[in-house]
Amino acid sequence: MLSDTIIIPKTQKAQLTCKFGLETELTEIPVPEPKDDELLVHLLYSGICRYDVSVMKNNLPMPIPLSLPNVAGHEEAFCDTPTHLTMAKWGTFQQYITVSALRAHKIPDGVDLAKAAPAQCAGWTIYRALKETNTRPGQFVAINGASGGLGSIGLQLAKAMGLRAIAIAFGQAKQDHCLRQGAEFFIDAQTQNVVEEVLKVTNGCGPHGVISVAPSVKPLEDALLYVRKTGTIVIVGLPDDGKFTVDVNLMVFKGVTIKGSLLGSREDLDEVLQFLAKGLIDIPIEIVRLSELPDAVKRLDNRQVKGRIVVDISK
Ligand SMILES: [Zn+2]
Repeated sequence: MLSDTIIIPKTQKAQLTCKFGLETELTEIPVPEPKDDELLVHLLYSGICRYDVSVMKNNLPMPIPLSLPNVAGHEEAFCDTPTHLTMAKWGTFQQYITVSALRAHKIPDGVDLAKAAPAQCAGWTIYRALKETNTRPGQFVAINGASGGLGSIGLQLAKAMGLRAIAIAFGQAKQDHCLRQGAEFFIDAQTQNVVEEVLKVTNGCGPHGVISVAPSVKPLEDALLYVRKTGTIVIVGLPDDGKFTVDVNLMVFKGVTIKGSLLGSREDLDEVLQFLAKGLIDIPIEIVRLSELPDAVKRLDNRQVKGRIVVDISK
């Protein structure tokens, strides 16, 4: 008779950050010991986010200073506090990780685990942002920076939620991609007057909701000009210096709500995984081996990645 005992090795492979920067070392390290209230999770996949690049470079303001060496990576498949993972303990670029048993999160059956990894960061974030717009089926939602990872999933979710999505992206070459993801309209921020075009496709009234994904100021300032009266602007992308100017007169007289959004609730996470399980959204991914992590991170840093990179931790 076959034994169903799971053998947990003493050591595991990890990509260790020994000095701040994008070079990591593929190393054997001990498998962590779970505490009484923790689970030991065998990781199969982890996404890589721009956040990881910033953590590796140590150029984000952190509540706790990062120490070295560490393991970066935060889209750990069963944790609902991924942004704090690298600070509290080592991250997901290793084969085994401990997580709080109370916070562990079940992935529904039938979901491609490689796609579930980025769904739990990019998908979760943009789904919450869509909810934060308070739009209802049939209403317009504009997404700037729409051709990137978050934006693309946002267009798919918007369509699945019955919203009429307007994609705003830089360069006509992004049009086909955005329309394929579910956008009803495409506006090229490189060659078109965004404010005029958004008003044109919304019969002069503007969209009910706007999600600002683009990490720059101009798209945010445009949003206040074209958003519908009493509409909502949800900020997800961070402008380079973290600041933008608001025309308060315009904001007050149009009754506009401007708010930020980060990740979401556990309920949001369950729901976005259901969209994935039911095939209502798909997440474009490129799978790389754990040993290829440094190259993948550099490509992400140089904005040479389409969709999301997912690391196969077993290789
Ligand atoms: Zn992430």
